[in-house]
Amino acid sequence: MKLAHLRMLYMPFCLLVSLLVTGVAMATEPTFPRSIQTVLENTTPLKHPRNGRLPLLLWPVLGGVVEDNELQEVIIRELDQRGVSMIATWDYGKKEISLTQSLRIAAIQQKLGLPVVANANPSMYSFFNGDPKTSHVDAEGNRFFDESFGKGHKMGCAFTLDFRYAAMTEQIDYFVRAYKKEGLPLDLVWGDWEIDGPHEFNRSWEAAKRCAVCQKNIPNIETFESYQRAIRLKRAEMTRRCYTEPILSRYPKALVGNYAVYPHDGYHYWWDYFEYFVDYHPHIVDQRARYRKWFHEFALTGYTFAMPTVYPWHDTFLWYDFDDPDYRWFYNMLLVASNAGQHTDYKIPIIAFVHWHTVVVDGKPDPAVKQMSKWAYKELLWHMLLRGTDGLFMWCPAAESAEETRLVHEVYTASLEYSEWLNRGTPISFAVAKQPSPVISGLRIGNRVLVRRTDFGKTSGNPIKMEVDGKTLIIPPVADSCFVLTLQ
Ligand SMILES: [Zn+2]
Repeated sequence: MKLAHLRMLYMPFCLLVSLLVTGVAMATEPTFPRSIQTVLENTTPLKHPRNGRLPLLLWPVLGGVVEDNELQEVIIRELDQRGVSMIATWDYGKKEISLTQSLRIAAIQQKLGLPVVANANPSMYSFFNGDPKTSHVDAEGNRFFDESFGKGHKMGCAFTLDFRYAAMTEQIDYFVRAYKKEGLPLDLVWGDWEIDGPHEFNRSWEAAKRCAVCQKNIPNIETFESYQRAIRLKRAEMTRRCYTEPILSRYPKALVGNYAVYPHDGYHYWWDYFEYFVDYHPHIVDQRARYRKWFHEFALTGYTFAMPTVYPWHDTFLWYDFDDPDYRWFYNMLLVASNAGQHTDYKIPIIAFVHWHTVVVDGKPDPAVKQMSKWAYKELLWHMLLRGTDGLFMWCPAAESAEETRLVHEVYTASLEYSEWLNRGTPISFAVAKQPSPVISGLRIGNRVLVRRTDFGKTSGNPIKMEVDGKTLIIPPVADSCFVLTLQ
């Protein structure tokens, strides 16, 4: 069937009628929301089928909810041709309209046999809703909030929140039970829940030590590890009871996850935008980087997929002395991705949040900080895929949508050629060299390995010998492509 005929099928019904009535030969192109137009202009239809791989998730797609059902279907089909999933948003603050839109999107995805994906984020806020009952209380009975996450966020006491569970559960279950009632599937739900609930960093520990309720509930509160453990146990319980369980109780096979929560080696190699260094937090030092001791929270949340955050945060560049500016970004981002890949059970999918533009937190970029090259970013995405990352979720502000979409989509579409490897292969390496040098990643099936080699540093250009499970792999200096080798 010619493309023109296919497009006729996708045409909104109203446009089709107008064409039939007027006999106008030129079809009126559907008017897409700006963010969808940008995605379509910066992506191409897939050359290889998705073949069981997760669809690509793109932040700009959140702007693709429209009221016209026919146009919504066109958007969903056009995105799917490019391997990109439409995402509905559950916003309990506008629950009726949000539910209507979400059910409509899910029904189209069901009809087309596509994964049903939802953004639960707006419905995950806020446990700490400003109610005085959620505050810390000092020995004299004075109530106080912890403002270490900013004045706009009234962070209170972790041990006062149980009364909020019923309301917070309802904010999620309202949507989930409606999907069930309508006979709709639900395949993937994600959140970006972070600035709410108890958190052990910044100066929150100081506030907790002044609180009589925290003192009573946290054994050994004077030790940071004890405090961290108590806070993370509570945080995991909140998210499990009010977010994960309401979804999994009705959709046990759904993928459920949240930004920045993933299995790891006990350390956190990056800092989120609201976090700042306090010297009494246990950490290890790597040049000027400080990697904080992190609690193993993932398993306690019940999440069924992991969501590491792999961003070029501005300050990362200043932590390291590598001459090659690209390796400063690459090194840190590969550390984060490899950490998740190495420590996540192979049965748990990893969907990483990714981004290319330097993330400037305070609006004052240091002129010494050099943007990562597009080449390095795309190579990084390939190495992530060859180290256990199953899916990519690109976040970006609207102004960066075009470039961000294009870069991640180029890698995603090209990677579909290797779906068999990506679906079944086992990573051969999670190593991250402490100096610029060739980076090698690979996926093994039997004695064969899909390999990618990216050369940094002065040692490049020679074959590299690598031991894999007692066997030898000789990696030739083939740049910027994947190739298959046999273990000797
Ligand atoms: Zn407290």
